[in-house]
Amino acid sequence: MIGIIGAMQAEVESLQQQLKNTKITTLSGIDFYQGQLEGKEVVIARCGIGKVFAAICAQTMILTFHPDCIINTGVAGGLTTDLAVGDVAIATTLVQHDMDTSPLGDPVGLISGINVVHFPADETLQEKMQRAAETLGCHAVKGTIVSGDQFVSTPAKKAQLQKDFNAVACEMEGASIAHVCYVNGVPFEVLRVISDSATGDGAMEYTQFVTMAAELSEDIIKGFCKEM
Ligand code: SAH
Repeated sequence: MIGIIGAMQAEVESLQQQLKNTKITTLSGIDFYQGQLEGKEVVIARCGIGKVFAAICAQTMILTFHPDCIINTGVAGGLTTDLAVGDVAIATTLVQHDMDTSPLGDPVGLISGINVVHFPADETLQEKMQRAAETLGCHAVKGTIVSGDQFVSTPAKKAQLQKDFNAVACEMEGASIAHVCYVNGVPFEVLRVISDSATGDGAMEYTQFVTMAAELSEDIIKGFCKEM
């Protein structure tokens, strides 16, 4: 079974509508949709915005449905000029950019206890996701995606995240889901379509393009399920 998590309704709605033999289970305030998508067993959930909701969703999904892998899908801010609005970021690693114990000598992003900064996405899932994106004619870039509980809106902050973590995109859930999957031993991947670019006006671009980007991310996920 493939677990699929999106933060917002627009990121999962059409996938949920296209499910066959849908069964809905509500846990921790989240509706989990089980069924078949492109002939594959899946469970799809809208987790809500930010790292805490994302973690609740991923942990509940793992303990209840035992997915073989988890995919986090949706939209993100681009951090490099190589990624325009509508282009695709495929995670190689995930970092929580707002985790910061650096005054104590730790690197920014370090998750103490397990001593991880970069959570590695599964390589087979990366390849399948890249094929799915390229089959749809998308420009896809692989690299680090960073997450934090903030909407990153200025080119200056985006440039700083790019520099600090050599990252290609920023969002608010992926690294949290990666963290949960890592401690549970579940392979994961994060796919994001760019809703706002590295140099643009973050909030205005986002508002204009979020729906288009979210719908494209759903199309790529369908293609990914075919690849599995
Ligand atoms: N109140 C709004 C909040 C949206 S937050 C709402 O409920 O719709 C933005 C969402 O898009 C998050 O899920 C995040 O993962 C993603 N995102 C897109 N561009 C982003 C950026 N530049 N910085 C942070 N998150 C971004």
